[in-house]
Amino acid sequence: MRIWDISPSKLCRNHLLGEHRELYAMWVVITENKKGYSLHPETLRWKGKLKAMYLRHEQLVSEMITRGYNHQSPLDKRKATGNTKQNDYVDSIKDQISILKKKKCSCRV
Ligand SMILES: [Zn+2]
Repeated sequence: MRIWDISPSKLCRNHLLGEHRELYAMWVVITENKKGYSLHPETLRWKGKLKAMYLRHEQLVSEMITRGYNHQSPLDKRKATGNTKQNDYVDSIKDQISILKKKKCSCRV
């Protein structure tokens, strides 16, 4: 359960598509007040920042389209409220880079 703070263009296929799936799930949890993962630190840092989350989703989608993947789960823009910037981190960007490096996937970090 993680939204990366790293440019989508640097993510490997698995991490790009995985993040997109998780972001969508998290968006539903926050916008519909669902219980699943609602207290997860990754979910908490996006509360009140749905606009930032919406923008991250746009970045992921544009990278997915560039790579030729289908996209069929648009977010409701009317729900994109709150802060436009995300600056609370569960792991710092530096730590996120080392987490991805250790996975030895094809992320270009
Ligand atoms: Zn990766």
